[in-house]
Amino acid sequence: MTAETTSIDTLVIGAGQAGVAMSEHLSNAGVPHLVLERNRIAESWRTGRWDSLVANGPAWHDRFPGMVFDDLDPDAFAAKDRVAAYFEAYARQIAAPIRTGVTVSRVERHQGRAGFTVETDQGVFEASRVVVATGPFQRPVIPPIAPKSETLVQMHSADYRNPEQLPEGGVLVVGAGSSGVQIAEELQRAGKKVYLSVGPHDRPPRSYRGRDFCWWLGVLGEWDAEVARPGREHVTIAVSGARGGHTVDFRRLAQQGITLVGVTEAFDGEQVTFKPDLALNLARGDDNYLSLLNAADAYIARNGLDLPEEPAARDVLPDPDCVTHPLKTLDLRAAGVGTVIWATGYEVDYRWLNVDAFDANGKPRHQRGVSKEPGVYFLGLPWLSRRGSAFIWGVWHDAKHIADHIVTQRKYLAYQGADERNAAAGTSRRDATADDSRIHPVSETGVL
Ligand SMILES: Cc1cc2nc3c(=O)[nH]c(=O)nc-3n(C[C@H](O)[C@H](O)[C@H](O)COP(=O)(O)OP(=O)(O)OC[C@H]3O[C@@H](n4cnc5c(N)ncnc54)[C@H](O)[C@@H]3O)c2cc1C
Repeated sequence: MTAETTSIDTLVIGAGQAGVAMSEHLSNAGVPHLVLERNRIAESWRTGRWDSLVANGPAWHDRFPGMVFDDLDPDAFAAKDRVAAYFEAYARQIAAPIRTGVTVSRVERHQGRAGFTVETDQGVFEASRVVVATGPFQRPVIPPIAPKSETLVQMHSADYRNPEQLPEGGVLVVGAGSSGVQIAEELQRAGKKVYLSVGPHDRPPRSYRGRDFCWWLGVLGEWDAEVARPGREHVTIAVSGARGGHTVDFRRLAQQGITLVGVTEAFDGEQVTFKPDLALNLARGDDNYLSLLNAADAYIARNGLDLPEEPAARDVLPDPDCVTHPLKTLDLRAAGVGTVIWATGYEVDYRWLNVDAFDANGKPRHQRGVSKEPGVYFLGLPWLSRRGSAFIWGVWHDAKHIADHIVTQRKYLAYQGADERNAAAGTSRRDATADDSRIHPVSETGVL
């Protein structure tokens, strides 16, 4: 802990992909800045995910424009540690001024003057601007229906690592987005009896007519969609890059031995009740899947593309017994289920951010990341500006917008009227370096 206060124009908090992208654009714009990271660069990719996780999108797609995964086939899916190494290498390439091992504990707006005081476990900073890049998935959410049981092992997907970590016996996985579906399949392949609770979801084909779904969502403008379709704002997307990538097909998972159940509604001790919505959720997922095939076919026809036909993509497996005769309840003990994995998402945690930037529900109020509180920016949140915002390829573009906004604001603030210009000219003759004294030197040479 140092007693001195470090002053900097722009402070970026968090050095995941969002913080690294922000640093690149700020450097390109010549904005003095510093990135503070409480752990290591891309920590979420290192320790916040299960062991076998690979990127959901192929290497050619899930990256920043300035660097390729030079050791991977462009169509391969990078392992999570490779993704972390990528961002570390990227930070080095752009000489990002990142200080790791610094936890920000409080941000407070100055009273009667511009800027913010930022308290950390390594001293105090003063910044004219603060970019909050602390991630879209900070605090794992387990719904209040989770039973209070001493015998049942319960964990969030954020704490799941591998099948060996779990006790003997079956598993109920609640939530069938990308995390729940991949974890359920890994456990089933490891020989466990798995129940998978399936809610509303989108499930694009992994690939269609020779193109990955990431390509299709790109050319069809879906990644750039600025608002979710009404009623689909919180619908999860079930995709997988595991084992080379494959379409998530719930009927196939059932054929493999996973028992599908509807949305988990309530627990009475170890007796679980499921909503009678499994068939409906699968049907809506099928609609989403088929609508993408239809849009892709139309795009191919309209643009005269020579991509191979793929009629088999429209084959639908027969409904398995667990769909036609869905379980309404399950006695976990009688079924030999000793573990519940909650793949139920995350929320943000801004208790340390003491600024007027939130609505009554504690959600950031912002326009494309530019907060209502001047000088505060948010980056990396889902739907910050578009569907792609929380993903690797999307956050880079949002960071550019925020950097542009910062540059514009700095230009306004640098403006001086004639009197001020004349006075400044006199001052600068007397002390050419006066302005620089506000900036505490930080390494411009790379990762600190
Ligand atoms: C299971 C899973 C799989 C995903 N797979 C993909 C994928 O394949 N492709 C894709 O594009 N996206 C994927 N995502 C979404 C997204 O890309 C990741 O969540 C990504 O980590 C978000 O990057 P970020 O920089 O916004 O946040 P993070 O990576 O979470 O980085 C935020 C950083 O801020 C630091 N921090 C937080 N609070 C403080 C503080 N108070 N002081 C200092 N530092 C702080 C953290 O230590 C962290 O390093 C996935 C998400 C999950 C959960």
